[in-house]
Amino acid sequence: MSDAAARTRLATHLVTNQPDPPSARDLLADDAPLCEALAREAPAWVTRRLAPLGREAGSDEVQALGEAANRHPPELHLFDRHGRRLDEVRYHPAYHALMHLAIDHGWHAVAWQEEGRGGHQAHVAALYLLTQAEPGFCCPITMTHAALPTLRQSPAAEAYWAPGLLAWDYDPRARPATEKSGLTVGMAMTEKQGGSDVRANSTRAEALATNSTRAEALATTSTRAEALATTSTRAVALATTRAEPHSPSRDDGWRLTGHKWFCSAPMSDAFLTLAQTDEGLSCFLVPRFTPEGERNAIELQRLKEKCGNRANASAEIEYRGAWAEGIGEPGRGIATILAMVQQTRLDAATAPVGMMRQALVEAWRHVRERHAFGRVLAEQPLMRVLLADMAVEVEAGLALSMRAARAFDGAARGEASEAALARLLPTLAKYWHNKRTPAFMAEAMECLGGIGYVEETPLARLYREAPVNSIWEGSGNVICLDLLRVLARHPASLAAVREEIVAARGRQADLDRAWNQLEAELGAPPETLEPRARWLAQRLAQCLQGALLLRHGPPAVAETFCRSRLGGEAGPAYGVLPGDAPLVALLARIGD
Ligand SMILES: Cc1cc2nc3c(=O)[nH]c(=O)nc-3n(C[C@H](O)[C@H](O)[C@H](O)COP(=O)(O)OP(=O)(O)OC[C@H]3O[C@@H](n4cnc5c(N)ncnc54)[C@H](O)[C@@H]3O)c2cc1C
Repeated sequence: MSDAAARTRLATHLVTNQPDPPSARDLLADDAPLCEALAREAPAWVTRRLAPLGREAGSDEVQALGEAANRHPPELHLFDRHGRRLDEVRYHPAYHALMHLAIDHGWHAVAWQEEGRGGHQAHVAALYLLTQAEPGFCCPITMTHAALPTLRQSPAAEAYWAPGLLAWDYDPRARPATEKSGLTVGMAMTEKQGGSDVRANSTRAEALATNSTRAEALATTSTRAEALATTSTRAVALATTRAEPHSPSRDDGWRLTGHKWFCSAPMSDAFLTLAQTDEGLSCFLVPRFTPEGERNAIELQRLKEKCGNRANASAEIEYRGAWAEGIGEPGRGIATILAMVQQTRLDAATAPVGMMRQALVEAWRHVRERHAFGRVLAEQPLMRVLLADMAVEVEAGLALSMRAARAFDGAARGEASEAALARLLPTLAKYWHNKRTPAFMAEAMECLGGIGYVEETPLARLYREAPVNSIWEGSGNVICLDLLRVLARHPASLAAVREEIVAARGRQADLDRAWNQLEAELGAPPETLEPRARWLAQRLAQCLQGALLLRHGPPAVAETFCRSRLGGEAGPAYGVLPGDAPLVALLARIGD
């Protein structure tokens, strides 16, 4: 027997009927629904600025960073070798590289630096792309982005912190803010006894002696802004345009004592937090270093061992008399921090759409190269229906997220009906997109068969990540209750949604019927609506998605969406479409 024949006989690992290894993708150019949504919703500069991110996020290198950041989760370092407290988290270099990818290009800041000019659309589209590199590190990006509207409620704090938060420079060092070229902010609300119901927070804030002298403090010059001005051109612009910043001193603030049950990104430079005062629950900013440059009394207790979201650290922390600065009006802590939560909710509505897009592309790539029962899987009728249905879901989610982003930019320009939409859409989209995601991930995983359940593909990671955006920033039921509150207190928000839906009236019978039924239910006495809140949220989200697709999307997608989601055969499982659904057109939306 020749050597070659012997090798063939012994070659038990000839690989056949398996897809080629994945290759780099351009996550923007390859995504027709995203390109069209941007062309429709955003000014032209947004697509231009996103183009390099699309290429980079889909590159082999960045995809490998995402995997590595998950395989090597952050580690807690409580003490140095001599026993002094450190309270630090150390991340794998891949995590830092991903943070650089986002922050060094200003994606955490773009919403504010281009506010009203497409900044929010740029932020949301960037988040959708960054999520496809790795969703965990997007948590600190989101929180840093979202902190500003809450900080704005204390102009002095805004002037001090904003230059660092908006700087395009990721600086992970555990150093006082004045020594850093860029800053990040986290959020610590949840306590053991109450997460959704933060009124149960027991963390206590005591005013320091001269706390009432904030106005005087405003008069002092800022060492921080000066330090930043030398390192960041953005900071220069900000430092010159904002009000004179203050330099807080230890005596000018509060002392916080209490425990926070969840605090993600615990290496952030400051945390927006809630604590009880004599006036009631109030909002504070707790920096990691005191104004004198000492480590603040924030002790990390442990890191959570999480189902997913592993690249991101989530800690339990203890304030042991930690120095803090009051933000907003004392006693109005919930209202103050809600300005941040409104932003984080839009991101929590968008991230699942990005994750669904990534899973869809993985599944599509696999089924086009794998054969079973004599045909490539992508030609098997049931597989085609399933993937076409999933493509429709991603497109509907993207349409809603981008519409919400446009509403934020419109609100910033002072447009009343856009402000009314901005109040409602993040909550609505967060609820519904996240209810659609876990089942989507299971289906995408199943498209790959056994290998989908193995960690070497991103599907297992995406599946574990899928529930988290539904839980944080208001869990499903709580979000639905919030939605009812908005509908009751802000009739203009429902009117603005109605306007969006009515603009598509007469184009599709299932949407017309569904909207009529929904309008009738919404007219019921508010106190009777609570048990129906999930249904109302689902229906409102789907009617709006249907209307957006009918007005702006390809007819094949819009018609299929309305018939399969709002028509008589609508059901909970993916892969149920009308028998005459235009599969070729729908599958073409996924791209190559
Ligand atoms: C990975 C991860 C990271 C996190 N990071 C942070 C962070 O950085 N900062 C932070 O502050 N928090 C963070 N959280 C906490 C998160 O925001 C809370 O877990 C969430 O708000 C829910 O609060 P809870 O856990 O106390 O649940 P609960 O409030 O006890 O709620 C339990 C369930 O009851 C439901 N429920 C509550 N009230 C009602 C009602 N009236 N009617 C019907 N159902 C109701 C909720 O929807 C939920 O499903 C994080 C959580 C996770 C998983």
